[in-house]
Amino acid sequence: MTLANHVFPFDLHTMTDKYRFIPFLKDKELYSNFNFSVFLDDYCNADCKFCVANIRCKTKNRKNVFGKNYNAYLKSLDKMFAFLRPLNPTISLTGGEPTLFPLFDEVVSLVNQYNFRIRAVTTNASQLLKNNQRILNCLIKNNWTYLNLSLPHWEQKRIEEIMRYKDTYPSSFADLLSQAHQAIKGTCVKPRLSCVLLKEGVGDLSACEKYVNFYNKLGYDNFIFRQLTYFNGKDTNQDIVRYNEQNVVTCEKIWKENEEQDKFTFFKRNIGYYYYVELYKYANNTIAFESADLATRKQEMQKYNYKKVFEVVYHPNGNLCSGWDGTQEILLNYQDL
Ligand code: SF4
Repeated sequence: MTLANHVFPFDLHTMTDKYRFIPFLKDKELYSNFNFSVFLDDYCNADCKFCVANIRCKTKNRKNVFGKNYNAYLKSLDKMFAFLRPLNPTISLTGGEPTLFPLFDEVVSLVNQYNFRIRAVTTNASQLLKNNQRILNCLIKNNWTYLNLSLPHWEQKRIEEIMRYKDTYPSSFADLLSQAHQAIKGTCVKPRLSCVLLKEGVGDLSACEKYVNFYNKLGYDNFIFRQLTYFNGKDTNQDIVRYNEQNVVTCEKIWKENEEQDKFTFFKRNIGYYYYVELYKYANNTIAFESADLATRKQEMQKYNYKKVFEVVYHPNGNLCSGWDGTQEILLNYQDL
């Protein structure tokens, strides 16, 4: 495969729209395989140098609008779930660090009660074994589907340098991941290791291979390597923008190295509305490489005057939006329901 074969435009054109002009969408159309993200809040016990959640200064410290009124928050979520579930989205829980959200268990249970077809959560893994594996037991009990574990390296020291934990963190992520794998093995919960490509961390094919081999020995066989998403603009956190500019490693670079060294075997590509994924096999492992480009998506949407909603996000401020800024692209507020 030549390098040119890797590059595909983001596909806004063939996405089908089963749900057209549902009243709350006004003049917009909903992508039928849309994802519903519940953005719990942005508290995290780490401070990753590349953190996309913290790159927008103006939305940092997004406290949940319900504060400690947990019943009110769960009621609002119940209404949102009842409203959106008939449209059959996949669902994901995000933050911050979602497992530190005080109502994590209750939210997971509610997702199960509504029987969303695919459920995913992305975590930095630090809390998985605490309190007798409370988080893992909760996911298993509630028929969870995907557990995405974000770790930017396999060496403890490098993980600590990049993630800059603010308080206590596991003395050995390797031991933690090993025990976590034992706990979920044979259950409905499918784990996946997620690693951002960084010059400072995993930045070439050889490092990708080491990462996969290391975690494979602990039991994992599903991996995703992500290219940093370019993001800049008014009010952005310039430290993170600069770090990301200096540390970005493109998927193309890794694919080119792979063509020369023939380590991973390509078998599939997925072209999304703002992402491009290539899937590879390597021994018993499945490895995805993902590049995403929100800026290009925005330009394409404007160019073709698209009014499609590809994902919806329930923000901590009570707004349901079609994007990751809780003050923009508002579809409705929980009080409208
Ligand atoms: S663990 Fe995730 S949310 Fe927390 S700082 Fe790192 S990237 Fe951001």
